[in-house]
Amino acid sequence: MKRLFAPTETHPAETRAAVAPDTVRKFRDLGLAVSVQKGIGAKSDFPDAAYAEAGADVVPDAPTGYAQADIVTRVRKPSIAEIDALKPGTLQLSFLDPFNEKPLIDELAKREIAAISMEMIPRTTLAQKMDALSSQANLAGYAAVVLAGDRMRKILPMMMTPSGTISPAKFFIIGVGVAGLQAIATAKRLGARVEAFDTRPVVEEQVKSLGAKFVKVDLGDTGQTDQGYAKELTPEQLEKQRAEMAKACARADVVITTAKLFGRKAPLILNEEVLTQMAPGSIVVDLAVESGGNVAGSKVGEEHVTANGVRVLGPENLEGYFPKDASLMLASNFYNLIDHFWDAEAKDFQFREDDEILKGCLITRGGQIVHERFKG
Ligand code: NAD
Repeated sequence: MKRLFAPTETHPAETRAAVAPDTVRKFRDLGLAVSVQKGIGAKSDFPDAAYAEAGADVVPDAPTGYAQADIVTRVRKPSIAEIDALKPGTLQLSFLDPFNEKPLIDELAKREIAAISMEMIPRTTLAQKMDALSSQANLAGYAAVVLAGDRMRKILPMMMTPSGTISPAKFFIIGVGVAGLQAIATAKRLGARVEAFDTRPVVEEQVKSLGAKFVKVDLGDTGQTDQGYAKELTPEQLEKQRAEMAKACARADVVITTAKLFGRKAPLILNEEVLTQMAPGSIVVDLAVESGGNVAGSKVGEEHVTANGVRVLGPENLEGYFPKDASLMLASNFYNLIDHFWDAEAKDFQFREDDEILKGCLITRGGQIVHERFKG
């Protein structure tokens, strides 16, 4: 019988677990034995006893788990030492950051690990149920609004009371991918007035359908990649965008930036000058802080107030801000991927190499880098 193992995450900011008790049951129904490391769900409210009750073996440490595993699921990329602890031929699924992790990919290949990078799963309808980038970005978008609401000194909805009328808070969302859409929806639900902008023109309709206003900026040709990702702007386009964004930022109580470029550094959109034009008490939440940052001065895991009173937040691991639900979704993404490729008779993962999803996300296998984008 094949065995799946999920270790406890080691990164200090990581709150999520790659397997939840309910997914243990589902993996067992496929015919997989499951082990988890003691304490795996300590930060996401899943006690070891719940995993054991679902049929998992709770092992005391990661090396014990790796030594027995045929499949490993984890949230963050493994270290070189952790790769070396895996059996050759192990299937390992996690976020891998493959664009920035050449030595890690070389090591995965060298150790004959079949490595799947969750960020490389194609953004197609068929793959939606395994799309961990989306499931986590959606929660990050929600968390950004909750976080901003907590730091604000005014409320979000309009209130008409005998004591007076309070005007609704004004939100401006820059970057309307999965996180941005959820941020718009959440801010609207809480009664804020919302404006938004994205360089991909197709987004305008989506923004309007959520009841928000799309800020129009004529940047000329912007377009998107065949996977729907934004293309990098020219320096001139970016300069024009900054100038236009400044006006919308100046009228906002909260600016949430989510503008990312897949596999590349995020563009700097709110420079010092834009920040100085914002009102005291305004909040800026930079969701791109971990990939370079959209906001001047934002730092991962830090919060500061500018000289003119603007509070800039650079939250770390906002995807895991609500770890229970984030873990449930992520665990379900891993399960759906494995289930999609499961051979019920052989009770094993089947590497269907002509499959578009697998071609998109399998980075190494059989001692080689197999993904076209990372070869050579
Ligand atoms: P992302 O995290 O890479 O980027 C977030 C947003 O920032 C994007 O909308 C991008 O256009 C925008 N952006 C980049 N540079 C910008 C700039 N200078 N100014 C303003 N905005 C800027 O995006 P994502 O959330 O991962 O989504 C990427 C694409 O994948 C989208 O087209 C989305 O609709 C698509 N998608 C499709 C599916 C599916 O079909 N199953 C699932 C999820 C996402």
